[in-house]
Amino acid sequence: MPAKLIKTVSTIAALLSVSAMVSAQQDFSKVEITHQPVAGSIFMLQGSGGNIALLVGEQGNLMVDDQYEPLAPKIKAAIAKLSQQPVRYVLNTHWHFDHTGGNAEFNTGEALLIAQDNVRSRMLSGGEIKAFNAKIPPAKKEALPELTFKERMQLYFAGEDIEALAAPNAHTDGDAVVFFKSSNVVHMGDLYFKGVFPFVDLSSGGSVPGVLAAVEAALERMDDKTKVIPGHGSLSNKAELSEYRDMLKASIAAVAPLKKAGKSLQDVQAAKPLAQLNEHYGGGFIKPDLWLQFVYQSL
Ligand SMILES: [Zn+2]
Repeated sequence: MPAKLIKTVSTIAALLSVSAMVSAQQDFSKVEITHQPVAGSIFMLQGSGGNIALLVGEQGNLMVDDQYEPLAPKIKAAIAKLSQQPVRYVLNTHWHFDHTGGNAEFNTGEALLIAQDNVRSRMLSGGEIKAFNAKIPPAKKEALPELTFKERMQLYFAGEDIEALAAPNAHTDGDAVVFFKSSNVVHMGDLYFKGVFPFVDLSSGGSVPGVLAAVEAALERMDDKTKVIPGHGSLSNKAELSEYRDMLKASIAAVAPLKKAGKSLQDVQAAKPLAQLNEHYGGGFIKPDLWLQFVYQSL
């Protein structure tokens, strides 16, 4: 596919995914689950919602995130093409239901659901995603993480040394970055929306400086060969994530002095302080004015 068409297709996918987050009424019948090898025995699965990492092992599989509940049969069919073993572990990068929607479906006898502490508490109570006026009902019991951690979790499975590190107050207050250290692969969750301004869920405890801090910490652990799975978008690498880090930094640097000078959000939006970034990053579902709002309200 030509690069421009790929960009258009992924933009549409992002739009679909946010409209689904708002309404939960998306038509999933046309969604296809694709898979691609990443490194070692790790694959990236894409359909609708957050990207899935799948680690295939002789005694079972581990997945990071599981998209929307109605897609679970298709995701299971996609996994069956790669492994006859059951899913043993599901790690959630955060509580949003385009990443945890399949939890109950994958929570069979063999499986253990794992996430940062706040993922469980937010799923248990339900909540509101204010940026989209979305009310999220409490999750069913079978969908709740069964093993939670505050700062760091290590798991040795399928020949892989796996480490999940919490990123406080970033995309939400329950994000985890998952490092597959043996194969040099990182799943960033929604700390990384590749090539577009990101959604930052301030009503779930997120903040733009928190996203920047988490991205910087992850970059420090990467090298030029690291494969980077974004929460949304195609497979990436350290160089692209570094550019994204620069965009986050530039956004904060542009907005902070205006807010400090007492400018209102409307004044800041009218001043278009990110004009030079908009062309590159403004084509996703978070338009420049909403991105400025996230930055402004975070500071
Ligand atoms: Zn999210």
